[in-house]
Amino acid sequence: MNAGRFAPSPSGELHVGNLRTAVLAWCFARRSGRSFIVRMEDLTTEAPGDHARSQIDDLAALGIRSDVPVVFQSERLELYRDAISALSGAGLTYECWCTRREIREAVRAPHGANTTTAYPGTCARLGSAERARRAASGRPAAIRLRAGGESVEVHDGTGRTVRAEVDDFVLQRGDGMPAYNLAVVVDDADQGVDQVVRGDDLLATTPRQVLLTRLLGLREPSYLHVPLVVGPDGERLAKRHGAVTLAQLRARGVDEGRLLGMLAESLGVPCANGGATLEDIRGAIDPENLGAAWEFDPTSLDTTVV
Ligand code: GLU
Repeated sequence: MNAGRFAPSPSGELHVGNLRTAVLAWCFARRSGRSFIVRMEDLTTEAPGDHARSQIDDLAALGIRSDVPVVFQSERLELYRDAISALSGAGLTYECWCTRREIREAVRAPHGANTTTAYPGTCARLGSAERARRAASGRPAAIRLRAGGESVEVHDGTGRTVRAEVDDFVLQRGDGMPAYNLAVVVDDADQGVDQVVRGDDLLATTPRQVLLTRLLGLREPSYLHVPLVVGPDGERLAKRHGAVTLAQLRARGVDEGRLLGMLAESLGVPCANGGATLEDIRGAIDPENLGAAWEFDPTSLDTTVV
């Protein structure tokens, strides 16, 4: 299967920013004859089921449905463990006992080689006695990829290229749960996703995912990172900005058709009478011309491209 997807974390209701990304993901999948799937990335959510239902319902209200039953990551832990075992078997992982604070301090050390927030590789260099001491400390270890600073270049569908030296990022957290970068790569490959459309904020982590995809011998998807929606203060849209969810917009008299109309306008797609359908948007969007961040002002329901 060749599929596109939308993969929210069910940690809250979807807001206009999430919905805009979902609309774009659906449009780009359908334009290219792909199927479309929705996946719940609930590995970091306290109560996974909480918002999944309302998210699925809100997507459906816009006309966005998964072609296969919605998958929940929390039900697929075995798959992620197998991938980590495969990497460990190839000597590509190591245990790490560092706390966030230790990593921050190591990175800040005046003579440290690293000046970025990348993991400085502390636990990769431990002698056997120190490793044994840390293992005996009782603090659970995370598992990191031995990425070795591999340089990876990613061509984004918006016409941008990002290049990064991949750090030894976490594959499995100290609490035993798989990390986002691992789970997303395993799931996309397992679900036949060969087109990843998602928010711009994830572009920086994509080289890590591409490296992991290669090391696991999986098919590399194409990537398209779409501009974020910001509030009037220029910050990423959030609940505190006001009426940002579909339920809140409905209460303000903005129905699905009008919301799709606003999203269409934000993408430079003309719409008659203020409304639009998914099909209108699908036919008219251009991946290389998605513009910059879109400002959404819930107080006036005025919108401007910034
Ligand atoms: N679950 C992530 C989020 O909600 C998106 C992951 C992805 O699309 O790769 O931000």
